[in-house]
Amino acid sequence: MYDLAIIGGGPAGLTAGLYGARANLKTIVIEKGLHGGQMQNTLEIENYPGFEKVTGPELSDHMYKQVLALGLDWKLGEVNKADLAGQPKTIEVGGEEIQAGAVILATGGQPRYLGVPGEKELAGRGVSYCATCDGAFFRHQDVLVVGGGDSAVEEGLFLTRYASSVTIIHRRDELRALPVFQERAFANPKMKFVWDTVVEKIEGDGRVSGVLARNVKDGSTRVIPGTGVFIYIGFIPNTGFLKGMPFLNEEGYIITGQNMATSIPGVFAAGDVRDTPLRQIVSAAGDGGIAAMEAYQYLENLEA
Ligand code: FAD
Ligand code: NAP
Repeated sequence: MYDLAIIGGGPAGLTAGLYGARANLKTIVIEKGLHGGQMQNTLEIENYPGFEKVTGPELSDHMYKQVLALGLDWKLGEVNKADLAGQPKTIEVGGEEIQAGAVILATGGQPRYLGVPGEKELAGRGVSYCATCDGAFFRHQDVLVVGGGDSAVEEGLFLTRYASSVTIIHRRDELRALPVFQERAFANPKMKFVWDTVVEKIEGDGRVSGVLARNVKDGSTRVIPGTGVFIYIGFIPNTGFLKGMPFLNEEGYIITGQNMATSIPGVFAAGDVRDTPLRQIVSAAGDGGIAAMEAYQYLENLEA
């Protein structure tokens, strides 16, 4: 029986573990893959305070070593079922049951991938899913953005701070993004639009040089040049195992208050899996710290 079970070992779960263990809570982190979560897929991080430049795997290792040294339990396994309503909470990992007084959900999410040739091979070599993280690498260059929703248009506008031009490639002839973003995008001289077009392949030898695009109306194909391809066709929160829980919004994100508490007492959430305005390492870590201290308070009140 644990005081605190944390599901997910990305920056949110690692920081929750740090704060939980330092509060003397008997803590377990359950992680299905490598420690560090999405950080493991990041070549260069330039916006985590204290590190001018660090690779994702390096930063993950720092966080992991720091938290393991505190003596918490780290379990490799995927949580596929959780009974969170009562007390204690029960979590199922590969046929084993783990019980805890409080649970922090820090399972993050993943960008929706295009699934075209070149995407995987050139990830981190011009293919990006994060303008906030990588935009500055594309100063005075021509970049392409795939998608037509709020993320594509808002992040495309952000990229105009650095890039010479930002071309939005959208599969329809109308954006899905909010009118306010659309107005700003159409008024920005650096923004260009390619309508009714899907990306069939990302081109480049070692680094992105452009995309092979197909017009869905007439079937014609052409190469659109660009040194960066930012893919914004949606993000998928890892909440499949929480289906039916009352704290999920329509898109599957977890709704919390500012103290990271969900609508179920003793259940908290942190990081990208939350319905949150910023999905970054720094915000995930901040959420993790808050969630652990709130879990500590919850457990104290339970005992009193
Ligand atoms: P995640 O990092 O997604 O971690 C969640 C963890 O939970 C994963 O390890 C996953 O395996 C585990 N998990 C999921 N489901 C289960 C389950 N059922 N059972 C057990 N374990 C589970 N942010 C920055 O601040 N700066 C950057 O430069 C930057 N660059 C990025 C580059 C890329 C390519 C990407 C994709 C993201 C980047 N980000 C960057 C965003 C940043 O990585 C995320 O905001 C951050 O990792 C979110 O942390 P998290 O802990 O909430 O979730
Ligand atoms: P989204 O709203 O789901 O939009 C995804 C876009 O990608 C759509 O334009 C979609 O085209 C396109 N698309 C999807 N799959 C594709 C594929 N396989 N190939 C090519 N194009 C594809 O996702 P999002 O923009 O990431 O936004 C997610 C949520 O966050 C939304 O609710 C959004 O409002 C919100 N958000 C809000 C803000 C803000 O308010 N500041 C900022 C960002 C995101 P179609 O239009 O044809 O479906």
